[in-house]
Amino acid sequence: MTVNEQDVEKIVKQVLAEMGGVSQSGPAKGAFTSYTSLGKAGTTSIPEKAHVAVLVENERFEIKEYPIPPVGDDDILVKVEGCGVCGTDAHEFKRDPFGLIPVALGHEGTGEIVAMGRNVKADSAGKPLHIGDKVVTCMIFEDDPEITMFDLNKKNVGKADVYGLLPDDEYHLNGWFSDYIFVRGGSTIFNVSDLDLDSRILIEPAAVLVHAVERAKSTNILRFNSRVAVQGCGPIGLLCIAVLRTMGIENITAVDGNEKRLEFAKRMGANKTVNFNDHKGIEALTKGVYDSFGGHLCDFAFQCTGNPQAHANVYKFIRNGGGLCELGFFVNGGDATINPHFDLCSKEINLVGSWVYTLRDYGTTFDFLRRAKGIGLPVSELITHRFPLQDINEALKTNLAMTGLKIAIVN
Ligand SMILES: [Zn+2]
Repeated sequence: MTVNEQDVEKIVKQVLAEMGGVSQSGPAKGAFTSYTSLGKAGTTSIPEKAHVAVLVENERFEIKEYPIPPVGDDDILVKVEGCGVCGTDAHEFKRDPFGLIPVALGHEGTGEIVAMGRNVKADSAGKPLHIGDKVVTCMIFEDDPEITMFDLNKKNVGKADVYGLLPDDEYHLNGWFSDYIFVRGGSTIFNVSDLDLDSRILIEPAAVLVHAVERAKSTNILRFNSRVAVQGCGPIGLLCIAVLRTMGIENITAVDGNEKRLEFAKRMGANKTVNFNDHKGIEALTKGVYDSFGGHLCDFAFQCTGNPQAHANVYKFIRNGGGLCELGFFVNGGDATINPHFDLCSKEINLVGSWVYTLRDYGTTFDFLRRAKGIGLPVSELITHRFPLQDINEALKTNLAMTGLKIAIVN
């Protein structure tokens, strides 16, 4: 196990430990109501049993059948339409670092409300909720919209139910890799009925970029006409370009070593690309970036790879007084060597780090996805593989092979 994995595990374990008292509490037994609340929908009949992909041992999901529990006054039953596969799912699939087996995974999911308790009136943003609405859950809880993942270490997580990472309990319908999920009262939930299925599946990863760009804006350097370099064109870098483009920044150079990804970067809004394989050494690469901006270094750079050498390189692309947002090291990827005098001090670089998102960023993300679609960015093409629920093992293996961009389960 590497140090990076330990860090993330420690945090997740702590979050889970603090949630311990929550999942047991659930709705009070006396609070259960029958399904009368869904009478008016009329279109969806609810089966007696749900199918849930349960990770039963390392690298093996089994599709299990569980009875759908009665929906309490504060609860919501959602028919799952799809769920993205996240790095966290792949991590847990491979070797259960959080000690959760047996566990229902999948947190990047979305679906349609088919039943809800009589107390449920609105989502976490105050938007009304009705049967038939399309929703997502969010792992950041609603009592503090500005809280960051970083703060979760220090604060009580309150009533958060982190679907897709919950320990198994008497409900069993705890993850989005399923056909029904049981959302308990008090969970963070959003009505996103006006977004298409692909956009809804991409909400969670896109929120990471909305947060990163908010962090970047805090340096006061980003302008409409800024020259911006985005290094790394995996899903994160590509979404970064799309977020920048939707906010009106058009002078973007994408840097990567894969020509296919660079082509995609152009369609997502980059107007120039630099393939680092065409430039031997950091001086030549810097010249490539400089030339792409018509003889200028960039005003701001986003570092979206998990490679320490790439982190060291990115400073060279930035002008004196420019800014850098480092968001590629979601987990510990090792130490990078920079020269603090040349790279930071004498250039007066404004450096910000970014990790996960806040609840407020989640709301902004819905707007971003609408705008991206509105201006024709091919965001949904980020989903390169779609698997039915029964092929979940293959989906996770495809994710681990890292041949595609976003892998999704679509029911
Ligand atoms: Zn995720």
